[in-house]
Amino acid sequence: MTPPARDDALAPLPGDCLAQLVAIVGQENVILDPRALALASSDLIDWPWQRPASAVVKPRSTEETARLARVAARHGLPLIARGAGLSYSGGGVPGGAAIIVDTANLATIDIHADDRHARVGAGTPWEALARALAPHGLKPAQPMPISGVHTTVGGAASQGMPGGMDGIIGLAVVLADGTIARTGSGARRQGSAFQRYWGPDLTGMFLGDCGAYGVKTEICLRLVPVRPLRFASFSCPDGATSVDIMTRLLQAGLAMRVVANGPGNGPGAEAAWALHVTVEGATEDAADSVLAAVRADCGRQATEIDADVPRRLHARPFSIRGFVGLEGERWLPVHGVLPPTRAPSCLAALRRLLADRAAEFDAHGIRYTWTLSSTGPYVTIEPMFYWNDALTPLHLYYLSDRHRERFAGRHDAVQARALVRQARDAIRLAMDAHDAVHAQIGRYFAYRSVLEDGAGQLAARIKHALDPDGRMHPGALEA
Ligand SMILES: Cc1cc2nc3c(=O)[nH]c(=O)nc-3n(C[C@H](O)[C@H](O)[C@H](O)COP(=O)(O)OP(=O)(O)OC[C@H]3O[C@@H](n4cnc5c(N)ncnc54)[C@H](O)[C@@H]3O)c2cc1C
Repeated sequence: MTPPARDDALAPLPGDCLAQLVAIVGQENVILDPRALALASSDLIDWPWQRPASAVVKPRSTEETARLARVAARHGLPLIARGAGLSYSGGGVPGGAAIIVDTANLATIDIHADDRHARVGAGTPWEALARALAPHGLKPAQPMPISGVHTTVGGAASQGMPGGMDGIIGLAVVLADGTIARTGSGARRQGSAFQRYWGPDLTGMFLGDCGAYGVKTEICLRLVPVRPLRFASFSCPDGATSVDIMTRLLQAGLAMRVVANGPGNGPGAEAAWALHVTVEGATEDAADSVLAAVRADCGRQATEIDADVPRRLHARPFSIRGFVGLEGERWLPVHGVLPPTRAPSCLAALRRLLADRAAEFDAHGIRYTWTLSSTGPYVTIEPMFYWNDALTPLHLYYLSDRHRERFAGRHDAVQARALVRQARDAIRLAMDAHDAVHAQIGRYFAYRSVLEDGAGQLAARIKHALDPDGRMHPGALEA
């Protein structure tokens, strides 16, 4: 008999571990079904090292999370937190026996409108939070991911976002040994969680850690009033002009967000770039006058077009429809966050890199497009690939019934998938050569290997102090 290519057998929970987990969260919150375990042990990429976890556990409170962490510690099992799992850098994907902490039951929303903060469970989806805040005329200061219809506040806090995480002002984190550590002003005995900064900023240490330092159970967020917005779109001759305008508008403080979409190698490859600008004003009049300044500035290099795209994005800020192409193609983005001065040369290098692969992309039906975006003094460059391939069980889980029926049953496109991944790796290296950093580091983007000596020692000491046995999210932040 031919041995299997890899050992996908479940690693059962040792000894009385299951009974102890059930005693903490109840039978209904411990999942052992092999298909559910396989699903919860995946993200949007099929990683060669991926293996199903031993159990998925859904704690209902910070205290329950701490108790189950102690059980995992006693049995030497890794712990991996999971929000919606809508990631593509492997940070939440186990490579063997592990307990997955599904945060779905940690979804409380506690709004302190007058003190401008909210304390929410880590498993709260961004859209649910935005809905709860709307009647107060408030929103999180933290920009929210487009995937927030499903993705969680704890997921974003752990992945980091390209524009930073300044809107998060405190956390409750469960460490590997079950210690509950709060950060920010909420860490004081009976203290309210209204302020991030007093003493050392222990909150910052856990943001963007991909879970490697602990399981976040509560997140405190700064709230800000919803203000009048205006939108404008422009047709730009090329990507370099888009970067130029984007940088200028953000550095002048005129725009709160700029997104540019560029044609890649698909239909319409010769088309112009579209630049979408969102501006905010303290009053309606202020918003009008900022918009007028944006138009005057952009008009020198670009032609104004209908602002339907940013208006629609504002009206419907959350959607994951884009996680497959229009015809159900596989989608793979890869991003880099660059200093504005390095973005133009990086973009030019990436365009050359992809142009050099034109023949093999054509032969395998691989298309790509460009997205640039910024909310501050940085430019995110994000090429996105599309190709026909089998979808993963996680894609099928999140697709609507109609789309699942349409897009299921596709054949593996092994060669095209390998080519896209090679291109993604080459892009990552080219971005890094242009001084890029990354959100969503997980097990994919370089972190430890690029730290200078002192910083590397600091990161290693922090990890060792919090998780001496290396059981928290093994592999995350280690590349
Ligand atoms: C269509 C689409 C649109 C997207 N749009 C954006 C966007 O606009 N901006 C953006 O930045 N990203 C975006 N993403 C990427 C991704 O969805 C985000 O990074 C999102 O924040 C992930 O949240 P999640 O709940 O799915 O986290 P998961 O994928 O479940 O987890 C991500 C990582 O964080 C860890 N983790 C999760 N919860 C916790 C916790 N409570 N404590 C400790 N560690 C934890 C996991 O172990 C894993 O390492 C998009 C993805 C898709 C598919």
